[in-house]
Amino acid sequence: MPELSQRITGLNGGGSDGWDVFYRARAMVDAGEDVIELTIGEHDIRTDPSILNAMYDSALGGHTGYASVPGVKALRDEVAARVTAQSGVATGRDNLLITTGGQAALFAAHMAVCEPGDVAAFIDPYYATYPGVVRSAGAVPRPVPTRADVGFLPEHDALETACSGARSLLINTPNNPTGAVYPRTTLETIAEVMRARDMWLISDEVYDTQVWDGAHLSPRALPDMQDRTLVIGSMSKSHAMTGSRIGWVIGPEDAIAAMIDLATNTNYGVPGYIQDAALFALQSGTGLEVQVAAPFLRRRAIAERVLGGQNVVRAIPAQGAMYVMLDIRQTGLSGEAFANALLDAHRIAVMPGESFGASAAGHLRVAMTVSDDRFEAALHSLCRFAAGLAKAA
Ligand code: PMP
Repeated sequence: MPELSQRITGLNGGGSDGWDVFYRARAMVDAGEDVIELTIGEHDIRTDPSILNAMYDSALGGHTGYASVPGVKALRDEVAARVTAQSGVATGRDNLLITTGGQAALFAAHMAVCEPGDVAAFIDPYYATYPGVVRSAGAVPRPVPTRADVGFLPEHDALETACSGARSLLINTPNNPTGAVYPRTTLETIAEVMRARDMWLISDEVYDTQVWDGAHLSPRALPDMQDRTLVIGSMSKSHAMTGSRIGWVIGPEDAIAAMIDLATNTNYGVPGYIQDAALFALQSGTGLEVQVAAPFLRRRAIAERVLGGQNVVRAIPAQGAMYVMLDIRQTGLSGEAFANALLDAHRIAVMPGESFGASAAGHLRVAMTVSDDRFEAALHSLCRFAAGLAKAA
């Protein structure tokens, strides 16, 4: 066949993409083995039947044709009202585009602000698709290192260095994989760098309904940030609607108009019945969100209890999202070696920190996405396994 484009063959940046443990665990499950999977950010509950009924009613009612590309008006209005209430920033329908999940919003945002070859920075550790999404927009990924001992919060000097010559910075709070919720001071530091360097801030807030300590603050609400910030939102995590592929990007009207052109020429909008289901979910108040978030809050308490009973594995305190980060450096193993050994010895699958960037080396990301009993048992096994390794080290 003729050659494929460098843009697509280079998407993963070469080398291991860090997902080997995940795929190995999946193969074991397919072969009938009992593996406790604490890998991806997928809830152990499904989309609420009331949302599915709304989807069904909409489809049966005829909303199966092409839907409005920017998003149906009622949904855009509902999301805008919600964002206005949460952030205090006046937001209207023309400030947002409905997308096929947060992932498409991340792509649209980078397409909107980066020229081919521009540097697009993001905080390391990062959600695994960030470098690929930057490359797919033709930009050059540049991770901003952070340190475990400050809870992986970005610091001024590292930001200054990494943002030199960069067009955009992508942040994520509450954070996947670290569970960090950025305090106001961190966001103010970031905003200061964006203003001084005339950069775009892309703020991934897909976990905004899952905050356990403190409160979610959108950097779009900080002084002079509204016109240089694109916010990424999604119903995947908040309403356990991962498979429905619905999210949004929020920003200045001109930026949104440009991204609507992109949507028209790529996926041509989100199915109408999915949008109607999302509207139903948002209109039904915070009850569903609280219900979806509750298991993670409970399991976070389980993790604190189990990890508090030993001193080999150190937990990075999770203030939000559905993960806990564990520091396993006392075992002398890398995150990848530990995760592979744990899978072989105990049929427990966790993500190596290295999958999320160099700053998370020697760590593991544990998704709190199995029943409380299995989660607790898995953590006990993990800690015993680490203690055995540390003794031998
Ligand atoms: N951002 C972050 C930080 C995520 O963890 C995810 C999904 N795991 C996404 C964006 C994309 O989510 P979706 O496309 O399902 O909205």
